[in-house]
Amino acid sequence: MPPYAFFRKQFMPLAEARVGVLTQALHYGTGCFDGIRGNWDSEREGFCLFRLQDHYKRMLDACRILKIALPYSVDDLCRLTTELLARSGYREHVYIRPLAYKSAENLAIRLHDLEDDFLIVVTTFPTYLDTENGVRCCVSSWHRVDDNMIPPRGKICGLYVNSALAKTEAMENGFDEAILLTQSGHVSEGTGQNIFLVLGGELITPPSSDNILMGITRDTVMRIARNELGVDTVERQVDRSELYLADEVFLTGTASDVAPILEIDRRPVGTGKIGKMTAELQKVFLEVVMGRNPEYCDWYYTFAPKPAEE
Ligand code: PMP
Repeated sequence: MPPYAFFRKQFMPLAEARVGVLTQALHYGTGCFDGIRGNWDSEREGFCLFRLQDHYKRMLDACRILKIALPYSVDDLCRLTTELLARSGYREHVYIRPLAYKSAENLAIRLHDLEDDFLIVVTTFPTYLDTENGVRCCVSSWHRVDDNMIPPRGKICGLYVNSALAKTEAMENGFDEAILLTQSGHVSEGTGQNIFLVLGGELITPPSSDNILMGITRDTVMRIARNELGVDTVERQVDRSELYLADEVFLTGTASDVAPILEIDRRPVGTGKIGKMTAELQKVFLEVVMGRNPEYCDWYYTFAPKPAEE
């Protein structure tokens, strides 16, 4: 089966889903997207789409910021997603990418009175960071974009120039990932991940006011830390130097899972090995996200495609 896309209100082979060169979003980054995990369960022959509704609620919030009015409810978007999966014939873990954007072929720089469109594409699940062996990070020379520049609480296309600058700088300097600071020098997040520290026995993560995306993995980790480990997460401002003093630091994200950081700015984090709390959270998180923990069934949007026709 060829890969399919949902594009211009219909399903079509991915190869036919094309935009014109005057598309406003292509020039100005005026779109917003999300990234969703579809975990394939070979025993049940079905997908577990993790927190699907929450991803679409977040995308619709970003649409409000960009004045994009989609004719779909969260339920409609969930149904379009499962139909796309059914047509695409994947039988493996997938990454689902919905994108709402200013589709008008018009070079005006504005948000209002411009046509919008919405598409969904599906790919196989990317391996983004080495979660088994841990990653090496640097503090980026690029600062995180501020809420009154481009609001980072929305996954807004243009915002990812900031992430791409930081990621490339980090990788070209021999690191795996970058940690961005806010304008005032507080720790914000990774280029596509939230960040947590274990310091002085506390689990700490930067607050929404430090220009982070309110990550769904971040929320998941906070809830499993509370329920399974009895640990409450402290949301507070984090100084750069606390990164150097923490016993454990890890990143969280849909494509990155729980990724232990072993080194920051060429200083070992704690013992330089994966920490105890990080390892425990990684283990529980994987079970939860794969759809194997019934306690969290409210987060599972399950869907079994019909068997492929002979
Ligand atoms: N921050 C940024 C900038 C991101 O792009 C992502 C990935 N969506 C995250 C954090 C993590 O968010 P989530 O856990 O919802 O994937």
